[in-house]
Amino acid sequence: MVEIQEATDTSVFGQIAEHQHEQVVFCHDHETGLRAIIGIHNTVLGPALGGTRMWHYASETEALHDVLRLSRGMTYKAAISGLNLGGGKAVIIGDARTQKTEALLRKFGRFVKNLNGKYITAEDVNMTTKDMEYIRMETSHVAGLPESSGGSGDPSPVTAYGVYMGMKAAVKKAYGSDSLAGKRVALQGVGHVGLYLLEHLTKEGAQVVLTDYYEDRALDAANRFGAKMVGLDDIYDQDVDIYSPCALGATINDNTIGRLKCQVIAGSANNQLENENVHGPALVERGIVYAPDFLINAGGLINVYTEVIGSNRQSALTQTEKIYDFTRQVLDKAEQEGSHPQAAAIRQAKERIASLGKVKSTY
Ligand code: NAD
Repeated sequence: MVEIQEATDTSVFGQIAEHQHEQVVFCHDHETGLRAIIGIHNTVLGPALGGTRMWHYASETEALHDVLRLSRGMTYKAAISGLNLGGGKAVIIGDARTQKTEALLRKFGRFVKNLNGKYITAEDVNMTTKDMEYIRMETSHVAGLPESSGGSGDPSPVTAYGVYMGMKAAVKKAYGSDSLAGKRVALQGVGHVGLYLLEHLTKEGAQVVLTDYYEDRALDAANRFGAKMVGLDDIYDQDVDIYSPCALGATINDNTIGRLKCQVIAGSANNQLENENVHGPALVERGIVYAPDFLINAGGLINVYTEVIGSNRQSALTQTEKIYDFTRQVLDKAEQEGSHPQAAAIRQAKERIASLGKVKSTY
């Protein structure tokens, strides 16, 4: 079984070495107050692509931990999706409401430019398409721009389509048929992705109970699609076939796992398992089929990739549809290996990187 280690050496180089990150760039600018970290995990398959998030981290250690964890996730997401991309991510430390300025963003863009295409940035938490346009003024190594600026546009519908495909594959594994008609789904979060997913689910005849941090948003979605709204914490106790986390990470943890009555988990949130080594095997023991998050939520990255290779939304959707087959393969592999799906998915991603790394060993 693949062991997914958490960092034990908390020194900067200890953390960088833990998951073999290639390069970490600390960006500082006195004038604009920029403090950012760019994490490049692996570029064997191609340039490291991943969004920039701005967050008021409690400490620099927390920011470093986040960028290392997120950039590693991007490597696996790209690799398992068959993309010629590496994994990277960036964090800007600060309050996006009060500290984000054009000058700060453009200075950050200069740091991205200095990496000469080794890292390609995109939008993430607390960043807008307008912010991306500022960064684009300093560097061409930006993806995920709005369609009006020649970009690939909102990735959420493509992400939702991939989650839907992954969910169907996991349902096939659990129930023998991939039909969602009559299946009861607990949907956590009806934001960008959750709402598009809700549309797919109800169209196929699933019965959805949903929740959202914003009650009016939940109520509106429930009314629009004939779903039932429940309280934030009640979502874990629902008598459902499928739990679909589309809000936050780490919702599968010691407190929630015993409450889940579902047979399938498939959602868009990143890092759904609070501790992969503990909660991955725990789900197997409980007979719950888990569709690996970074595999089934890759539609957004696949969509952004079209910008890098110059193709279009339709080709992104065609590629995203393959998430169905990829998920089935990973679930079967995990079962054969006596492993859990998240570990099997990581192993598969690592195998692709290792084998293609050999291809590149000659000029
Ligand atoms: P979003 O911010 O549009 O939606 C998230 C929704 O979750 C919001 O409506 C928010 O109110 C709600 N929420 C927050 N805390 C909650 C809680 N405790 N309980 C219930 N609801 C809660 O984000 P999104 O773009 O829809 O992304 C959803 C998830 O999928 C995120 O974890 C994101 O990282 C991940 N993801 C998104 C994409 C994409 O293309 N947008 C791609 C890959 C992964």
